[in-house]
Amino acid sequence: MADNKNYYDILGVSKTASQDEIKAAYRKLVKQYHPDLHPNDPDCAAKFKDINEANEVLSDPDKRSKYDFQLDNPYAAGSGFSGSGFSGTGFEGFGDIFNMFSGFGGMNERPGRQGRTHTYEMQLSFLDAALGCSREFTYTRKDKCPDCRGTGAKGGTAMHTCPKCGGAGKVKQSVGAGFFRTITLSACPQCRGMGKIIDESCPTCKGKGTTQVNTKVKFDIPAGADNGSYIRRPGYGDVPDNGGEPGDLLIYFTVGTHKLFKRKDYNLYVNVPIPFKTACLGGKVMIPALDKPFEYTIPEAFQSGKQIVIKGKGIKSRSKTGDLYVTFSVETPVRLSKSQRDAIAALCDGLETKQNPLMNSYKDNMSKDYGINPYEKI
Ligand SMILES: [Zn+2]
Ligand SMILES: [Zn+2]
Repeated sequence: MADNKNYYDILGVSKTASQDEIKAAYRKLVKQYHPDLHPNDPDCAAKFKDINEANEVLSDPDKRSKYDFQLDNPYAAGSGFSGSGFSGTGFEGFGDIFNMFSGFGGMNERPGRQGRTHTYEMQLSFLDAALGCSREFTYTRKDKCPDCRGTGAKGGTAMHTCPKCGGAGKVKQSVGAGFFRTITLSACPQCRGMGKIIDESCPTCKGKGTTQVNTKVKFDIPAGADNGSYIRRPGYGDVPDNGGEPGDLLIYFTVGTHKLFKRKDYNLYVNVPIPFKTACLGGKVMIPALDKPFEYTIPEAFQSGKQIVIKGKGIKSRSKTGDLYVTFSVETPVRLSKSQRDAIAALCDGLETKQNPLMNSYKDNMSKDYGINPYEKI
């Protein structure tokens, strides 16, 4: 996948588009760009591939929320969502990357003259992940040797131009014979593509041009990091021996749990037990939120299991705001004394049928379907 593709732009929908809007946009575009309608049109084929790729992510709420996090990730700029680490693997690699925990602490090799990309795992508390935070991280990587400035030559100057390639670093090679002979350019075998021959190797790095250094990085983690989401710092991986582009640093997150909140994407869920008395008569209860708790008024005759949604009280990222789902449960008092039991029995036995409308309707339905009274033995 090329860098800097924006899946929302590809499907022509807003970042807040609903799943139905995404589905509709995808269906329309797929019809428009289907390769069967445009045979031998590579632009159309590429576009068709992009559309499918975008749909695969945005139509899956879990992948979408991780993608949104990457969009918010300030360091992803320039490397895009997939980054060069994904290139060549096709989109199938997506799921693996986001669920990949086995490689933590290890390194991934990239092809070409690019250094290794370092991959690490970082633990975040529930609240740090939900609110966003700053972190500092120290690790060891290969960087340019300071004594030879990465040249591998003693003092950075003990070298001369390669006589074989004249400093170009490449030599012509002919392959095959007769009509089928082709001339190709390949890295000069004498100087290994460097164009220079080292007279005397740098003693610090033994001619490799790199040394192990401790590197400290500071970075802001935007709100909304979830298990498996990551931050990429381009250029913070290894510098390859004998020159080339440095690899990247990838930091994957695992997010801790919270005693009050549960989380799904950017939405938060909390369960609030309320007293039996409040459920009957109404009253006020405090509900937790990411910023500060707030008061909620419970109306009288409130039923256990009721869920309310507080819009905008979930996780707030740059592009998205989640909601807070509050589920109330009425706590049945335990370890009742004799007098308390008598009081409750007196209260409940004194209730009229119309005061239990849910039970009433249940009783009617059970009677219709099964011919029984479910409360007969109470
Ligand atoms: Zn050196
Ligand atoms: Zn050479």
